[in-house]
Amino acid sequence: MLITSGPTRELLDPVRFLSNSSSGAMGFALAAAARRLGARVTVVSGPTALPSPRGVSVVPVVTALQMRREVLRRVRSAALVIGAAAVCDWRAARVPRHKIKRVPGRVRLTLVPNPDIIKDAAALRRKGQIFVGFALETRRAAEHARAKLARKGLDLVVANGPASLASSRARVILVGRDGDRRLPEMSKARVARAILTEAGRLLDQAA
Ligand code: C5P
Repeated sequence: MLITSGPTRELLDPVRFLSNSSSGAMGFALAAAARRLGARVTVVSGPTALPSPRGVSVVPVVTALQMRREVLRRVRSAALVIGAAAVCDWRAARVPRHKIKRVPGRVRLTLVPNPDIIKDAAALRRKGQIFVGFALETRRAAEHARAKLARKGLDLVVANGPASLASSRARVILVGRDGDRRLPEMSKARVARAILTEAGRLLDQAA
């Protein structure tokens, strides 16, 4: 099983970066739950303050481009791939070698889009593999999640709201090809088990 987790960090210069408030809790909760079920788990993780779950192999990365490289080289050997990372949508078009000097007035940053890691991973799909993504939305979560399911070629999208960012609890909707399942608010450990149960069902179907 291969999981992306945590935020990515996009350098603006050698000492500054762009990122988001993902803690990495959901990805590590998934890894710990899968490990307890006996899976061999690799987590490609952006910078996190959380301790690595026991018995899980963690590949630390910083940027989206690094995360993509580490994911794509491992995707072929995973039965289940879960994109739980909050990948930065943009990175600086150019990272200067030296610190940007503080100058009076406005500073303009030029950002370019990052590649979609879970989409690129799912494009390498082999028979029997299952791909799961997340959708963090501030409104119409299920609708956006359904669009992501199709656009990224996924089997399941876990829709949640911004309240789950950097929180130990989450309320999610599991959006699959055969419909939606709304779960009540619960701990990320329980959400992880529910996602793995559903992914297990999909793996059985795909076998
Ligand atoms: O498109 P959006 O960012 O809302 O999609 C979220 C899902 O896609 C998550 O599973 C996230 O891990 C994944 N993703 C990714 N690479 C990106 C952006 C999102 O793997 N550049």
